[in-house]
Amino acid sequence: MSCRKPDIYLRNLVAGTETKVALANGKYVTAINFDNAATTPPFCSVLKEIDQFSPWYASVHRGKGYKSILCSEQYEYSREVVRKFVNADNRDAIIFTKNTTESINLAAYALAATSGKQVVLSSDMEHLANDLPWRDKFITDYIALTKSGRLSIKDLEEKLKKYQGKVVLVTVTGASNVTGYINPINKIARLAHQYGAKILVDGAQWVPHMPVDMKPYNSPEHIDYLAFSAHKMYAPFGTGVLIGPREIFNNAVPVYQGGGAVGLVSHQLIEWDDPPAKYEAGTPNMMGIVALTAAIRTLNELQLCQVYQHERQLIGYVINGLAAINGIKLYSGGQDGEERVSLISFALEGLHHSQLAEILSQEAGIAVRDGLFCAHPYVTKLLNISAEEIEYYQTHDDKTIPGLTRISLGIYNNCKEIDVFLELMEHIAQYRQYYAKKYEYVLANDRQIRDYPYC
Ligand code: PLP
Repeated sequence: MSCRKPDIYLRNLVAGTETKVALANGKYVTAINFDNAATTPPFCSVLKEIDQFSPWYASVHRGKGYKSILCSEQYEYSREVVRKFVNADNRDAIIFTKNTTESINLAAYALAATSGKQVVLSSDMEHLANDLPWRDKFITDYIALTKSGRLSIKDLEEKLKKYQGKVVLVTVTGASNVTGYINPINKIARLAHQYGAKILVDGAQWVPHMPVDMKPYNSPEHIDYLAFSAHKMYAPFGTGVLIGPREIFNNAVPVYQGGGAVGLVSHQLIEWDDPPAKYEAGTPNMMGIVALTAAIRTLNELQLCQVYQHERQLIGYVINGLAAINGIKLYSGGQDGEERVSLISFALEGLHHSQLAEILSQEAGIAVRDGLFCAHPYVTKLLNISAEEIEYYQTHDDKTIPGLTRISLGIYNNCKEIDVFLELMEHIAQYRQYYAKKYEYVLANDRQIRDYPYC
């Protein structure tokens, strides 16, 4: 898996690598997807599995027909595939959801119902999915950042001390969707447990890129709750996962209520099913589960430690290339050897992030992401935007909102694609004024559709 040798094997793992897209000049080029943190293309193995499973598709947990029984068994077996994938405990419920956002919302409701209004420590680094669900249910506080934008473990400990045992949960991301920083989850888990709190990890940008081990219940480094999305691990079709102690879900009334989540119901009494069923009201997303388990199989075959090394090499190549371009500011340390997943955010002095993303798309068919990446507090802190400025943007729409441009890689990206990107970035940096003028329209459009690119 050398970075210098584009590996055709890895390339052929996913669908759509040869898709042609139109450029501003009317020509067509092979699309380059550097927006894998938003969503990944499907593994071909996933599409094959969906195709092969389709003749057997039937209702899950709702019938005595042969196919229905087969689907139900397959669906339940998939929980064990997921359990093994992240080494979850047998006492954990593996709940299938729609995505990470839904998973964390469900966890927040369950915890609020069982623990009262106590303190939840989130962090200044979080995606909004791991910030907003806690705000209206708990007293929330945020672990501060260090100067380089990492989580301050010192601040975490100070906050745990300050709240004197009232912190019910520390909820942090496994890896940032803005800087790519991987958090020291084991250390955070130890600290949280030491002060009587549980830990939830938002695994959306973590689980697809490296081996994750929830560790046994009796380990101080045990991860109590884990959430992740299948569509970020090469398995579209709308599945997410929430893992956590069955006991907690047993004690709380679920947010979504209806068929499939209950035993016998009268107008007087609801007999709830046991979790995970209790948390999966309505007809389950069988095809989403087929996709997820097929993706896990492929990731296991690839070995996530190798995936991590390969992607680490690729992003190192991007970082070195970008760092050498005049006017580029990288928004994470970027030193060789540091723990990070395969994404990096940056700015080019003198060009708006939104223009830069448009230029990359229109001039070379390169898809990147720009804006605040649904991590508004984090990005605004990295950019040193004051509370007054933020309030101005919230109440006025005469200025485009600041932000960054992000490149995020998948296992199938290669150095040839990165070279195309770096070459164009060099050119843009050199002829900034020309590009700023040519893509002036982007800023006017941005002002009109203010809320589109920021999440
Ligand atoms: N958490 C992180 C760190 C993310 O990057 C994302 C999405 O980009 C989410 C949560 C939300 O994931 P989803 O949109 O699949 O719910």
